[in-house]
Amino acid sequence: MTRQYISMENLRFLLFEVHEIEKLTTYSRYAHVGGKEELNFLLDAAKGIADKEMFPFFKEMDSQPVIHKDGRIHSHPQLKNIIKAVADAGWYTATTDIEDGGTQLPYTIFAAAHLIFEAANSSAQGYIGVSTGSLELISSFGNEALKKIYMPPMMEGKWQGTMALTEPQAGSSLSDITTAAEPVSDGSYHITGQKIFISAGEHEACENFIHLTLARIKGAPAGTKGISLFVVPKYLPSDDGSLQNNNLICAADFQKMGQRGYATTHLIFGEGGPTKGFLVGEVNRGLSYMFQMMNAARIAVGQTAAAVASAAYYNALHYANERPQGRLISDKDLTKEQTLIINHADVRRMLLMQKSIVEGSLSLVVECLKWYDLEKILDGAEKEKAFLLLEILTPIVKTYPSEAGIVSVSNALQVFGGYGFTMDFDAQQYYRDIRIMSIYEGTTGIQSMDLLGRKVTMQSGKALQMLAGEIMQTIEEASGFEDLLPYSKACGAAVEKLQKVLQYLQSFAIKGEVELYMADANLFMEYCGLVTVAWQWLKQAVKAHQALQKNDIPDHQKDFYFSKLETMKFYFKYELPKTESLAITIMHTDKMTIKKEREILM
Ligand SMILES: Cc1cc2nc3c(=O)[nH]c(=O)nc-3n(C[C@H](O)[C@H](O)[C@H](O)COP(=O)(O)OP(=O)(O)OC[C@H]3O[C@@H](n4cnc5c(N)ncnc54)[C@H](O)[C@@H]3O)c2cc1C
Repeated sequence: MTRQYISMENLRFLLFEVHEIEKLTTYSRYAHVGGKEELNFLLDAAKGIADKEMFPFFKEMDSQPVIHKDGRIHSHPQLKNIIKAVADAGWYTATTDIEDGGTQLPYTIFAAAHLIFEAANSSAQGYIGVSTGSLELISSFGNEALKKIYMPPMMEGKWQGTMALTEPQAGSSLSDITTAAEPVSDGSYHITGQKIFISAGEHEACENFIHLTLARIKGAPAGTKGISLFVVPKYLPSDDGSLQNNNLICAADFQKMGQRGYATTHLIFGEGGPTKGFLVGEVNRGLSYMFQMMNAARIAVGQTAAAVASAAYYNALHYANERPQGRLISDKDLTKEQTLIINHADVRRMLLMQKSIVEGSLSLVVECLKWYDLEKILDGAEKEKAFLLLEILTPIVKTYPSEAGIVSVSNALQVFGGYGFTMDFDAQQYYRDIRIMSIYEGTTGIQSMDLLGRKVTMQSGKALQMLAGEIMQTIEEASGFEDLLPYSKACGAAVEKLQKVLQYLQSFAIKGEVELYMADANLFMEYCGLVTVAWQWLKQAVKAHQALQKNDIPDHQKDFYFSKLETMKFYFKYELPKTESLAITIMHTDKMTIKKEREILM
């Protein structure tokens, strides 16, 4: 039997009880999908693929990593079967409109399937995630010719899509992109330049690679306003179906500490002959197109982090239930057998910490996915609300699961003691795999500046007010249960303190001291993450409490809900109070990190 890497019971609880995702099927766009039963069937089918094709190769794709040898990329042979299984099951076209050949599922269900894949094997899932993301870019902004040529083979999983933004000198700062595009008489462009760190940029499981590439058309304005988006294929498809060389060189694969089964390539355009690219949408709008995909991509990174932390948690939980070591402090009778480490309070603390981070993060992810779907189907004021909530929650959902997930997986490794540090156990792989989540798709530093610099201030603070309103609504609901009252009060107090922190910071912004305003954006982000996840735990606690009040539920379900309530209490005792020290540090008058005349870093 496959070792547990995700709890389907928890996933269903979050999707259907806490966030009531089945309600999406009451909208005409999703009416054809059916209801909860059909959605559950789809999730089970995804779990089947993950169990059979992905999880068994999780370790092997790490120990036999992608390499660049003899001028080409070598990838694990199972990758082809994985891509085929996922494409055959329709997951590449799950969110595509029916009239374009897709199944038009709610994005939340598509993402929930991805979550299962990510928990099973995050390296393998990466190829699928980046391809479906680039498919959506072409579908949303490409012209009919591009859609007709490129989408069908990508939808079948025969061609791989990628997102090619980063350059050696332009990582966080995309305004510094220099890859050039020169128009040619046939309406295409010649692309020259280099892209680095391009995920899935080449491998052995697909025939062609379609790079959604950001480049600057000669003479375009400087900065982000002069960036356009191009489809740049590795091989140019001809009318007769053959593929022609497009002078696109994959020069290397970066050898990484984690996600070693996922290719991270260095691409060179236009060396040894012209590389043709085809404009997507309008000239100079490339970055804005990419940004429209960013919300989904950033939720996806937070989701992957939560998935990896989930797999590490169940791995550690399993080990703690099997490993005998020592005796309880209260029982020093050496004639008795050693106790299992799960009985030691400190091990229980480490496991509860992981559970509270994993299940809190997953709930936040589903919250965002729900708003992502709603934003697409609602109108008027409701649409605007969905938009604003998504705007403010996106940097948080990218960051909290990634940063707290790293801590969570570190604790999973710790549960294994010395064995955790060895290659014989999987904990170290999860530890290595999760580390990238706070770096790509915008580092934590960049997300934090986005939150404090843009999202908090947008529309005179309307997005933040919307979020506070949602949190207050849950607090009110939780206050209706006497048992939950202390937790709803604690959450309310943390929100109130957040307002004080923000007022303090804004006093710098008002004076034009922007460096001071932004200096501790990272800490502000941490604070917001802790409060947002406290809100998610309150939401879960309300549902668990309501469920336990029903008399007719079986014992195992009672255990599940009881465990939810206890984990919520753990979060409020051990995690949420961290906001106190963050507030003290943020509101400390000594701003040590601002560079002064005399350098202190030496
Ligand atoms: C495994 C992997 C896969 C990737 N996949 C892709 C992909 O598919 N496509 C793609 O286009 N890119 C990809 N990337 C690139 C990734 O998005 C970048 O690495 C990331 O955006 C950071 O850029 P950088 O590495 O140049 O770091 P830098 O931008 O140099 O950042 C270095 C440090 O400085 C901080 N920093 C930078 N600017 C500021 C600032 N203004 N204020 C405060 N702090 C700042 C950062 O937070 C960071 O801590 C991938 C990277 C990796 C490692």
